[in-house]
Amino acid sequence: MTVRAEIKTYTNYINGEWQSSSTNEVHDSVNPANKNEIVGYVSKSTKEDLDHAVTAAKDAQIGWRKLSAPARGEYLYKVANALEARLEEVAETMTREMGKTIQEAKGETARGVAILRYYAGEGMRKVGDVIPSTDSEAFMFTSRAPLGVVGVITPWNFPVAIPLWKIAPALIYGNTVVLKPATETAVTAAKVIECFHEAGLPDGVINMVTGSGAVIGQGIIDHPDINGITFTGSDNVGKRVGQGAFARGAKYQLEMGGKNPVIVAEDADLDLAVEATISGGLRSTGQKCTATSRVIVQNTVYDVFKEKLLAKVKEIKVGQGLNSETWMGPCASENQLDTVLSYIEKGKEEGALLLYGGSRCEGTGFDDGFYVEPTVFENVNSKMTIAQEEIFGPVLVLMKVDTIEEALEVANDVEFGLSASIFTTNIQNMLSFINEMDAGLVRINAESAGVELQAPFGGMKKSSSLSREQGQAAIEFFTNIKTVFVKG
Ligand code: NAD
Repeated sequence: MTVRAEIKTYTNYINGEWQSSSTNEVHDSVNPANKNEIVGYVSKSTKEDLDHAVTAAKDAQIGWRKLSAPARGEYLYKVANALEARLEEVAETMTREMGKTIQEAKGETARGVAILRYYAGEGMRKVGDVIPSTDSEAFMFTSRAPLGVVGVITPWNFPVAIPLWKIAPALIYGNTVVLKPATETAVTAAKVIECFHEAGLPDGVINMVTGSGAVIGQGIIDHPDINGITFTGSDNVGKRVGQGAFARGAKYQLEMGGKNPVIVAEDADLDLAVEATISGGLRSTGQKCTATSRVIVQNTVYDVFKEKLLAKVKEIKVGQGLNSETWMGPCASENQLDTVLSYIEKGKEEGALLLYGGSRCEGTGFDDGFYVEPTVFENVNSKMTIAQEEIFGPVLVLMKVDTIEEALEVANDVEFGLSASIFTTNIQNMLSFINEMDAGLVRINAESAGVELQAPFGGMKKSSSLSREQGQAAIEFFTNIKTVFVKG
Protein backbone atom coordinates (compact mmCIF):
# COMPACT_ATOMS: atom_id res chain seq x y z
CA MET A 1 0.00 0.00 0.00
CA THR A 2 1.25 3.46 -0.81
CA VAL A 3 1.23 5.97 2.07
CA ARG A 4 -0.08 9.16 0.47
CA ALA A 5 -1.19 11.35 3.38
CA GLU A 6 0.17 14.89 3.09
CA ILE A 7 2.75 14.11 0.45
CA LYS A 8 4.29 17.38 -0.57
CA THR A 9 5.80 18.33 -3.90
CA TYR A 10 9.15 20.11 -3.68
CA THR A 11 9.76 22.37 -6.65
CA ASN A 12 12.85 24.06 -8.03
CA TYR A 13 14.25 27.14 -6.31
CA ILE A 14 15.09 29.75 -8.91
CA ASN A 15 15.73 33.48 -8.44
CA GLY A 16 14.43 33.45 -4.85
CA GLU A 17 11.17 31.62 -5.67
CA TRP A 18 9.88 28.05 -5.57
CA GLN A 19 8.83 27.17 -9.13
CA SER A 20 7.38 24.02 -10.70
CA SER A 21 9.29 22.57 -13.61
CA SER A 22 8.14 23.59 -17.08
CA THR A 23 6.51 20.19 -17.57
CA ASN A 24 5.03 19.92 -14.04
CA GLU A 25 6.26 16.32 -13.93
CA VAL A 26 7.69 14.86 -10.72
CA HIS A 27 9.91 12.03 -9.44
CA ASP A 28 8.87 10.06 -6.32
CA SER A 29 11.30 10.08 -3.45
CA VAL A 30 10.86 6.72 -1.73
CA ASN A 31 11.73 5.60 1.81
CA PRO A 32 14.25 2.73 1.45
CA ALA A 33 13.09 1.29 4.78
CA ASN A 34 9.55 0.98 3.36
CA LYS A 35 9.19 1.29 -0.38
CA ASN A 36 5.46 2.01 -0.01
CA GLU A 37 6.13 5.31 1.67
CA ILE A 38 6.71 8.28 -0.59
CA VAL A 39 8.66 10.93 1.31
CA GLY A 40 7.90 13.63 -1.25
CA TYR A 41 7.66 14.45 -4.92
CA VAL A 42 10.42 16.43 -6.57
CA SER A 43 10.40 18.27 -9.89
CA LYS A 44 11.50 16.39 -12.98
CA SER A 45 13.09 19.44 -14.56
CA THR A 46 14.09 20.27 -18.09
CA LYS A 47 16.98 22.02 -19.77
CA GLU A 48 14.75 25.12 -19.96
CA ASP A 49 14.38 25.15 -16.14
CA LEU A 50 18.13 24.88 -15.81
CA ASP A 51 18.60 27.80 -18.21
CA HIS A 52 16.37 29.97 -15.99
CA ALA A 53 18.40 29.06 -12.93
CA VAL A 54 21.71 29.78 -14.64
CA THR A 55 20.45 33.15 -15.91
CA ALA A 56 19.31 34.06 -12.39
CA ALA A 57 22.68 33.02 -10.94
CA LYS A 58 24.59 34.94 -13.58
CA ASP A 59 22.58 38.13 -13.00
CA ALA A 60 22.86 37.81 -9.20
CA GLN A 61 26.62 37.29 -9.28
CA ILE A 62 27.26 40.91 -10.29
CA GLY A 63 25.83 42.24 -7.00
CA TRP A 64 26.94 39.31 -4.80
CA ARG A 65 30.62 39.63 -5.64
CA LYS A 66 30.46 43.35 -4.85
CA LEU A 67 29.34 42.68 -1.27
CA SER A 68 32.19 42.52 1.21
CA ALA A 69 33.19 38.99 2.20
CA PRO A 70 32.21 39.65 5.87
CA ALA A 71 28.75 40.74 4.64
CA ARG A 72 28.42 37.50 2.68
CA GLY A 73 29.50 35.72 5.86
CA GLU A 74 26.63 37.33 7.78
CA TYR A 75 24.20 35.61 5.42
CA LEU A 76 25.89 32.24 6.00
CA TYR A 77 25.58 32.70 9.78
CA LYS A 78 21.85 33.24 9.26
CA VAL A 79 21.57 30.07 7.15
CA ALA A 80 23.44 28.16 9.89
CA ASN A 81 20.97 29.41 12.52
CA ALA A 82 17.99 28.47 10.32
CA LEU A 83 19.37 24.95 9.77
CA GLU A 84 20.17 24.53 13.46
CA ALA A 85 16.59 25.48 14.36
CA ARG A 86 15.32 22.77 11.97
CA LEU A 87 17.95 20.14 12.78
CA GLU A 88 15.51 17.48 14.02
CA GLU A 89 13.19 17.90 11.03
CA VAL A 90 15.99 17.86 8.45
CA ALA A 91 17.63 14.82 10.08
CA GLU A 92 14.34 12.92 10.17
CA THR A 93 13.75 13.69 6.50
CA MET A 94 17.25 12.42 5.69
CA THR A 95 16.64 9.15 7.55
CA ARG A 96 13.30 8.64 5.81
CA GLU A 97 14.73 9.50 2.43
CA MET A 98 18.00 7.53 2.37
CA GLY A 99 17.92 5.24 5.37
CA LYS A 100 20.87 6.20 7.58
CA THR A 101 20.15 6.05 11.30
CA ILE A 102 18.65 9.09 12.97
CA GLN A 103 21.76 9.53 15.16
CA GLU A 104 23.95 9.67 12.07
CA ALA A 105 21.50 12.00 10.32
CA LYS A 106 21.51 14.38 13.29
CA GLY A 107 25.31 14.27 13.38
CA GLU A 108 25.48 15.09 9.68
CA THR A 109 23.03 17.97 9.98
CA ALA A 110 24.96 19.41 12.94
CA ARG A 111 28.06 19.15 10.79
CA GLY A 112 26.24 21.10 8.07
CA VAL A 113 25.63 23.88 10.61
CA ALA A 114 29.32 23.86 11.56
CA ILE A 115 30.38 23.98 7.88
CA LEU A 116 28.22 27.08 7.33
CA ARG A 117 29.70 28.79 10.38
CA TYR A 118 33.24 27.86 9.40
CA TYR A 119 32.87 29.42 5.94
CA ALA A 120 30.99 32.42 7.34
CA GLY A 121 34.19 33.00 9.36
CA GLU A 122 36.31 32.57 6.22
CA GLY A 123 34.81 35.87 5.08
CA MET A 124 36.99 37.56 7.72
CA ARG A 125 40.27 35.81 6.85
CA LYS A 126 43.08 36.81 4.53
CA VAL A 127 42.88 35.85 0.89
CA GLY A 128 46.22 37.01 -0.47
CA ASP A 129 49.91 37.70 0.05
CA VAL A 130 52.21 40.66 -0.38
CA ILE A 131 55.13 39.75 -2.65
CA PRO A 132 58.30 41.87 -2.88
CA SER A 133 58.62 43.47 -6.30
CA THR A 134 61.96 44.04 -8.03
CA ASP A 135 60.70 47.60 -8.53
CA SER A 136 61.25 49.30 -5.17
CA GLU A 137 58.51 51.84 -5.89
CA ALA A 138 55.85 49.28 -6.68
CA PHE A 139 53.51 47.29 -4.47
CA MET A 140 52.71 43.73 -5.53
CA PHE A 141 50.14 41.43 -3.96
CA THR A 142 47.69 38.67 -4.76
CA SER A 143 43.95 38.90 -4.61
CA ARG A 144 41.25 36.32 -5.34
CA ALA A 145 38.49 36.53 -7.95
CA PRO A 146 35.38 34.32 -7.88
CA LEU A 147 34.80 31.97 -10.82
CA GLY A 148 31.28 33.30 -11.48
CA VAL A 149 28.45 30.77 -11.60
CA VAL A 150 29.27 27.40 -10.02
CA GLY A 151 27.34 24.21 -10.78
CA VAL A 152 27.16 21.84 -7.80
CA ILE A 153 26.35 18.15 -8.53
CA THR A 154 25.99 15.95 -5.44
CA PRO A 155 25.32 12.30 -4.47
CA TRP A 156 22.73 10.89 -2.08
CA ASN A 157 24.96 9.52 0.68
CA PHE A 158 25.58 12.80 2.57
CA PRO A 159 22.62 14.87 1.39
CA VAL A 160 23.24 17.78 3.79
CA ALA A 161 27.01 17.86 4.37
CA ILE A 162 28.22 17.47 0.77
CA PRO A 163 26.01 20.17 -0.80
CA LEU A 164 26.97 22.51 2.07
CA TRP A 165 30.70 21.87 1.93
CA LYS A 166 30.51 22.97 -1.72
CA ILE A 167 27.87 25.75 -1.56
CA ALA A 168 29.24 27.54 1.53
CA PRO A 169 32.77 28.13 0.18
CA ALA A 170 31.39 28.91 -3.31
CA LEU A 171 29.25 31.70 -1.82
CA ILE A 172 31.74 33.15 0.65
CA TYR A 173 34.26 33.74 -2.14
CA GLY A 174 31.67 35.58 -4.27
CA ASN A 175 30.30 32.92 -6.62
CA THR A 176 26.62 32.19 -7.16
CA VAL A 177 25.34 28.62 -7.29
CA VAL A 178 23.07 26.23 -9.17
CA LEU A 179 22.67 23.02 -7.16
CA LYS A 180 21.59 19.73 -8.73
CA PRO A 181 21.14 17.29 -5.84
CA ALA A 182 20.80 13.52 -6.24
CA THR A 183 17.16 12.75 -7.01
CA GLU A 184 17.08 10.09 -4.26
CA THR A 185 17.61 12.81 -1.61
CA ALA A 186 16.16 15.90 -3.25
CA VAL A 187 13.57 16.44 -0.48
CA THR A 188 16.36 16.75 2.09
CA ALA A 189 18.19 19.11 -0.27
CA ALA A 190 15.03 21.22 -0.66
CA LYS A 191 14.83 21.60 3.13
CA VAL A 192 18.42 22.82 3.21
CA ILE A 193 17.63 25.34 0.46
CA GLU A 194 14.58 26.48 2.47
CA CYS A 195 17.10 27.55 5.15
CA PHE A 196 18.90 29.75 2.59
CA HIS A 197 15.52 31.23 1.65
CA GLU A 198 14.70 31.92 5.32
CA ALA A 199 18.06 33.63 5.73
CA GLY A 200 17.04 36.12 3.01
CA LEU A 201 19.90 35.74 0.54
CA PRO A 202 19.52 38.03 -2.48
CA ASP A 203 17.45 36.46 -5.27
CA GLY A 204 19.42 34.25 -7.64
CA VAL A 205 22.48 33.79 -5.39
CA ILE A 206 21.50 30.18 -4.68
CA ASN A 207 19.31 28.11 -7.00
CA MET A 208 18.31 24.47 -7.01
CA VAL A 209 17.12 22.44 -10.00
CA THR A 210 16.15 18.80 -9.45
CA GLY A 211 15.97 16.11 -12.10
CA SER A 212 17.88 13.33 -13.76
CA GLY A 213 21.64 13.23 -14.15
CA ALA A 214 21.23 12.74 -17.89
CA VAL A 215 19.26 15.98 -18.31
CA ILE A 216 20.15 18.39 -15.48
CA GLY A 217 23.60 16.99 -14.65
CA GLN A 218 24.56 16.89 -18.32
CA GLY A 219 22.99 20.33 -18.76
CA ILE A 220 25.34 21.71 -16.09
CA ILE A 221 28.33 20.06 -17.78
CA ASP A 222 27.44 21.67 -21.11
CA HIS A 223 26.17 25.08 -20.02
CA PRO A 224 28.34 27.89 -21.40
CA ASP A 225 27.44 30.24 -18.52
CA ILE A 226 28.55 27.86 -15.77
CA ASN A 227 32.17 28.72 -15.05
CA GLY A 228 33.02 25.98 -12.57
CA ILE A 229 31.60 22.55 -11.70
CA THR A 230 32.15 20.80 -8.39
CA PHE A 231 31.07 17.16 -8.44
CA THR A 232 30.95 14.34 -5.91
CA GLY A 233 29.74 10.92 -7.00
CA SER A 234 30.78 7.79 -8.85
CA ASP A 235 33.88 7.62 -10.99
CA ASN A 236 31.94 6.87 -14.24
CA VAL A 237 29.90 10.02 -13.97
CA GLY A 238 32.87 11.99 -12.66
CA LYS A 239 34.82 11.16 -15.80
CA ARG A 240 32.01 12.58 -17.97
CA VAL A 241 31.90 15.73 -15.87
CA GLY A 242 35.66 16.22 -16.13
CA GLN A 243 35.81 15.56 -19.87
CA GLY A 244 32.82 17.82 -20.62
CA ALA A 245 34.07 20.67 -18.45
CA PHE A 246 37.59 20.44 -19.88
CA ALA A 247 36.26 20.45 -23.45
CA ARG A 248 34.59 23.83 -22.97
CA GLY A 249 37.24 25.33 -20.68
CA ALA A 250 35.29 25.31 -17.41
CA LYS A 251 37.09 24.70 -14.11
CA TYR A 252 36.13 21.40 -12.48
CA GLN A 253 36.64 19.45 -9.30
CA LEU A 254 35.76 15.77 -8.92
CA GLU A 255 35.56 13.69 -5.75
CA MET A 256 34.72 10.07 -6.47
CA GLY A 257 34.91 6.56 -5.12
CA GLY A 258 37.17 4.70 -2.75
CA LYS A 259 38.28 1.14 -1.92
CA ASN A 260 39.68 2.00 1.45
CA PRO A 261 41.91 -0.37 3.42
CA VAL A 262 42.56 -0.81 7.11
CA ILE A 263 45.84 -2.51 8.03
CA VAL A 264 45.91 -4.42 11.32
CA ALA A 265 49.50 -4.98 12.48
CA GLU A 266 50.45 -7.76 14.89
CA ASP A 267 51.23 -5.17 17.61
CA ALA A 268 47.83 -3.45 17.29
CA ASP A 269 45.25 -3.03 20.02
CA LEU A 270 42.94 -5.62 18.43
CA ASP A 271 39.78 -4.56 20.27
CA LEU A 272 40.26 -1.00 19.06
CA ALA A 273 40.94 -2.25 15.53
CA VAL A 274 37.78 -4.37 15.56
CA GLU A 275 35.61 -1.46 16.76
CA ALA A 276 37.06 0.86 14.13
CA THR A 277 36.76 -1.69 11.31
CA ILE A 278 33.09 -2.21 12.08
CA SER A 279 32.35 1.46 12.53
CA GLY A 280 34.38 2.49 9.46
CA GLY A 281 33.07 -0.31 7.26
CA LEU A 282 29.45 -0.80 8.22
CA ARG A 283 28.05 2.47 9.59
CA SER A 284 25.76 4.17 7.09
CA THR A 285 25.40 0.65 5.63
CA GLY A 286 28.88 1.00 4.12
CA GLN A 287 27.71 3.87 1.92
CA LYS A 288 30.49 6.34 2.68
CA CYS A 289 33.17 7.17 0.14
CA THR A 290 35.65 6.76 3.02
CA ALA A 291 34.14 3.47 4.26
CA THR A 292 36.56 0.69 5.17
CA SER A 293 36.26 -2.04 2.59
CA ARG A 294 39.47 -4.12 2.68
CA VAL A 295 40.76 -5.42 6.03
CA ILE A 296 44.43 -6.40 5.70
CA VAL A 297 45.60 -8.36 8.74
CA GLN A 298 49.03 -9.76 9.73
CA ASN A 299 48.81 -13.55 9.86
CA THR A 300 50.10 -13.83 13.47
CA VAL A 301 46.93 -12.12 14.77
CA TYR A 302 44.58 -13.01 11.92
CA ASP A 303 42.54 -15.72 13.66
CA VAL A 304 42.09 -13.79 16.90
CA PHE A 305 41.13 -10.64 15.02
CA LYS A 306 38.68 -12.56 12.81
CA GLU A 307 36.89 -14.16 15.77
CA LYS A 308 36.61 -10.85 17.62
CA LEU A 309 35.31 -9.15 14.46
CA LEU A 310 32.70 -11.81 13.72
CA ALA A 311 31.47 -11.79 17.32
CA LYS A 312 30.80 -8.03 17.05
CA VAL A 313 29.33 -8.15 13.54
CA LYS A 314 26.81 -10.74 14.74
CA GLU A 315 25.56 -8.25 17.35
CA ILE A 316 24.69 -5.58 14.75
CA LYS A 317 21.04 -4.61 14.86
CA VAL A 318 19.67 -3.94 11.38
CA GLY A 319 16.40 -2.06 11.06
CA GLN A 320 14.75 1.16 10.09
CA GLY A 321 16.82 4.20 10.93
CA LEU A 322 14.19 6.08 12.96
CA ASN A 323 14.22 3.33 15.57
CA SER A 324 16.75 4.38 18.23
CA GLU A 325 17.83 0.73 18.71
CA THR A 326 18.93 0.39 15.08
CA TRP A 327 22.64 0.37 14.36
CA MET A 328 22.47 -0.17 10.59
CA GLY A 329 19.70 0.93 8.24
CA PRO A 330 18.79 -0.27 4.72
CA CYS A 331 20.66 0.41 1.49
CA ALA A 332 19.58 3.78 0.14
CA SER A 333 17.71 2.42 -2.89
CA GLU A 334 16.68 -0.81 -4.61
CA ASN A 335 19.34 -0.16 -7.20
CA GLN A 336 22.00 0.06 -4.50
CA LEU A 337 20.72 -3.14 -2.84
CA ASP A 338 20.92 -4.98 -6.18
CA THR A 339 24.46 -3.72 -6.72
CA VAL A 340 25.57 -4.94 -3.28
CA LEU A 341 23.94 -8.38 -3.78
CA SER A 342 25.55 -8.75 -7.19
CA TYR A 343 29.02 -8.03 -5.73
CA ILE A 344 28.38 -10.63 -3.03
CA GLU A 345 27.54 -13.20 -5.74
CA LYS A 346 30.65 -12.22 -7.68
CA GLY A 347 32.76 -12.70 -4.53
CA LYS A 348 31.42 -16.23 -4.08
CA GLU A 349 31.90 -17.07 -7.78
CA GLU A 350 35.51 -15.89 -7.72
CA GLY A 351 36.34 -18.14 -4.75
CA ALA A 352 36.15 -15.87 -1.71
CA LEU A 353 34.77 -17.57 1.40
CA LEU A 354 31.61 -16.05 2.84
CA LEU A 355 32.03 -15.98 6.64
CA TYR A 356 28.91 -14.10 7.61
CA GLY A 357 25.81 -12.50 6.07
CA GLY A 358 25.58 -12.24 2.31
CA SER A 359 21.80 -12.15 1.89
CA ARG A 360 18.90 -9.78 1.79
CA CYS A 361 17.31 -9.51 5.28
CA GLU A 362 14.01 -11.32 5.50
CA GLY A 363 11.00 -11.34 7.82
CA THR A 364 8.73 -8.84 9.51
CA GLY A 365 9.91 -5.29 9.12
CA PHE A 366 12.30 -6.16 6.31
CA ASP A 367 10.13 -7.22 3.39
CA ASP A 368 9.26 -3.73 2.16
CA GLY A 369 12.74 -2.29 2.62
CA PHE A 370 16.10 -2.59 0.89
CA TYR A 371 17.93 -4.36 3.71
CA VAL A 372 21.05 -6.48 3.37
CA GLU A 373 22.94 -8.34 6.10
CA PRO A 374 26.32 -7.07 7.24
CA THR A 375 28.68 -9.30 5.29
CA VAL A 376 32.23 -10.59 5.82
CA PHE A 377 34.39 -12.52 3.33
CA GLU A 378 37.79 -14.13 3.78
CA ASN A 379 40.32 -15.81 1.46
CA VAL A 380 40.24 -12.68 -0.67
CA ASN A 381 43.11 -11.62 -2.92
CA SER A 382 43.77 -8.46 -4.90
CA LYS A 383 42.76 -10.03 -8.21
CA MET A 384 39.16 -10.48 -7.09
CA THR A 385 36.48 -7.99 -8.08
CA ILE A 386 35.38 -7.51 -4.45
CA ALA A 387 38.94 -6.43 -3.61
CA GLN A 388 39.10 -3.94 -6.48
CA GLU A 389 35.72 -2.30 -7.14
CA GLU A 390 33.78 0.00 -4.85
CA ILE A 391 30.78 -1.96 -3.50
CA PHE A 392 29.23 0.89 -1.48
CA GLY A 393 27.53 -1.52 0.88
CA PRO A 394 28.12 -3.28 4.24
CA VAL A 395 30.71 -5.75 2.95
CA LEU A 396 34.13 -6.31 4.53
CA VAL A 397 36.79 -8.46 2.87
CA LEU A 398 39.57 -9.97 4.99
CA MET A 399 43.04 -10.33 3.44
CA LYS A 400 45.90 -12.10 5.21
CA VAL A 401 49.53 -10.88 4.89
CA ASP A 402 52.89 -11.79 6.42
CA THR A 403 54.55 -8.40 6.86
CA ILE A 404 53.75 -4.69 6.99
CA GLU A 405 55.61 -4.23 3.68
CA GLU A 406 53.26 -6.76 2.08
CA ALA A 407 50.28 -5.09 3.77
CA LEU A 408 51.23 -1.75 2.19
CA GLU A 409 51.67 -3.37 -1.22
CA VAL A 410 48.22 -4.93 -1.00
CA ALA A 411 46.72 -1.69 0.37
CA ASN A 412 48.08 0.26 -2.64
CA ASP A 413 47.11 -2.40 -5.18
CA VAL A 414 43.87 -0.69 -6.29
CA GLU A 415 43.01 2.17 -8.63
CA PHE A 416 41.48 4.27 -5.84
CA GLY A 417 43.27 6.30 -3.16
CA LEU A 418 40.78 8.12 -0.96
CA SER A 419 41.37 7.13 2.68
CA ALA A 420 43.26 4.45 4.61
CA SER A 421 44.03 3.55 8.18
CA ILE A 422 46.45 1.42 10.16
CA PHE A 423 46.25 -0.03 13.66
CA THR A 424 49.67 -0.38 15.21
CA THR A 425 51.69 0.68 18.26
CA ASN A 426 54.98 0.59 16.35
CA ILE A 427 56.36 3.97 15.28
CA GLN A 428 58.21 2.51 12.28
CA ASN A 429 54.97 0.99 10.99
CA MET A 430 53.28 4.36 11.40
CA LEU A 431 56.00 6.17 9.49
CA SER A 432 56.05 3.61 6.66
CA PHE A 433 52.29 3.95 6.37
CA ILE A 434 52.37 7.76 6.31
CA ASN A 435 55.10 7.78 3.66
CA GLU A 436 54.01 4.92 1.43
CA MET A 437 50.22 4.81 1.51
CA ASP A 438 48.74 6.38 -1.63
CA ALA A 439 45.66 8.01 -0.15
CA GLY A 440 44.50 11.57 0.40
CA LEU A 441 43.51 10.85 4.01
CA VAL A 442 45.66 8.55 6.16
CA ARG A 443 44.62 7.79 9.73
CA ILE A 444 46.53 6.00 12.46
CA ASN A 445 44.67 4.09 15.16
CA ALA A 446 41.42 5.59 13.86
CA GLU A 447 38.82 4.38 11.37
CA SER A 448 39.16 5.22 7.67
CA ALA A 449 35.92 7.21 7.65
CA GLY A 450 36.30 10.44 9.55
CA VAL A 451 36.65 13.81 7.92
CA GLU A 452 37.03 17.06 9.81
CA LEU A 453 35.49 20.04 8.05
CA GLN A 454 38.42 22.39 8.77
CA ALA A 455 40.98 20.07 7.11
CA PRO A 456 41.57 19.49 3.38
CA PHE A 457 39.71 16.49 1.99
CA GLY A 458 40.14 14.60 -1.29
CA GLY A 459 41.64 11.54 -2.88
CA MET A 460 44.64 10.41 -4.86
CA LYS A 461 44.67 8.20 -7.99
CA LYS A 462 41.24 7.51 -9.48
CA SER A 463 39.38 8.87 -6.41
CA SER A 464 39.67 12.52 -7.35
CA SER A 465 40.69 15.15 -9.86
CA LEU A 466 43.41 15.80 -7.26
CA SER A 467 42.14 19.11 -5.95
CA ARG A 468 40.98 19.39 -2.35
CA GLU A 469 37.71 20.38 -0.74
CA GLN A 470 36.89 21.71 2.72
CA GLY A 471 38.94 23.76 5.14
CA GLN A 472 40.97 26.59 3.70
CA ALA A 473 41.89 24.38 0.73
CA ALA A 474 38.47 25.18 -0.77
CA ILE A 475 39.65 28.62 -1.84
CA GLU A 476 41.84 27.01 -4.52
CA PHE A 477 38.89 25.70 -6.49
CA PHE A 478 36.34 28.42 -5.89
CA THR A 479 38.59 31.37 -6.82
CA ASN A 480 41.26 32.32 -9.29
CA ILE A 481 44.40 34.11 -8.13
CA LYS A 482 44.85 37.62 -9.44
CA THR A 483 48.37 39.07 -9.16
CA VAL A 484 48.24 42.84 -8.69
CA PHE A 485 51.11 45.23 -9.45
CA VAL A 486 50.57 48.84 -8.37
CA LYS A 487 52.79 51.79 -9.09
CA GLY A 488 51.84 55.36 -8.25
P1 NAD B 1 26.42 9.12 -9.07
O1 NAD B 1 27.70 9.41 -9.78
O2 NAD B 1 25.50 8.14 -9.63
O3 NAD B 1 25.59 10.49 -8.93
C1 NAD B 1 26.15 11.68 -8.42
C2 NAD B 1 25.40 12.86 -9.01
O4 NAD B 1 25.66 12.90 -10.42
C3 NAD B 1 23.89 12.78 -8.85
O5 NAD B 1 23.37 14.07 -8.60
C4 NAD B 1 23.46 12.28 -10.21
O6 NAD B 1 22.12 12.62 -10.54
C5 NAD B 1 24.44 12.99 -11.12
N1 NAD B 1 24.56 12.39 -12.45
C6 NAD B 1 24.23 11.12 -12.84
N2 NAD B 1 24.46 10.97 -14.15
C7 NAD B 1 24.97 12.13 -14.61
C8 NAD B 1 25.43 12.59 -15.88
N3 NAD B 1 25.38 11.80 -16.97
N4 NAD B 1 25.92 13.84 -15.98
C9 NAD B 1 25.99 14.64 -14.89
N5 NAD B 1 25.54 14.28 -13.67
C10 NAD B 1 25.04 13.05 -13.53
O7 NAD B 1 26.83 8.78 -7.56
P2 NAD B 1 25.86 8.35 -6.35
O8 NAD B 1 25.40 6.96 -6.58
O9 NAD B 1 24.85 9.42 -6.11
O10 NAD B 1 26.88 8.39 -5.10
C11 NAD B 1 27.71 7.35 -4.77
C12 NAD B 1 29.13 7.62 -5.23
O11 NAD B 1 29.59 8.85 -4.69
C13 NAD B 1 30.12 6.58 -4.74
O12 NAD B 1 30.99 6.23 -5.79
C14 NAD B 1 30.90 7.32 -3.65
O13 NAD B 1 32.20 6.84 -3.41
C15 NAD B 1 30.91 8.69 -4.19
N6 NAD B 1 31.18 9.65 -3.11
C16 NAD B 1 32.42 10.24 -3.07
C17 NAD B 1 32.72 11.15 -2.06
C18 NAD B 1 34.06 11.83 -2.01
O14 NAD B 1 34.15 12.89 -1.37
N7 NAD B 1 35.09 11.30 -2.63
C19 NAD B 1 31.77 11.43 -1.07
C20 NAD B 1 30.53 10.79 -1.14
C21 NAD B 1 30.25 9.91 -2.19
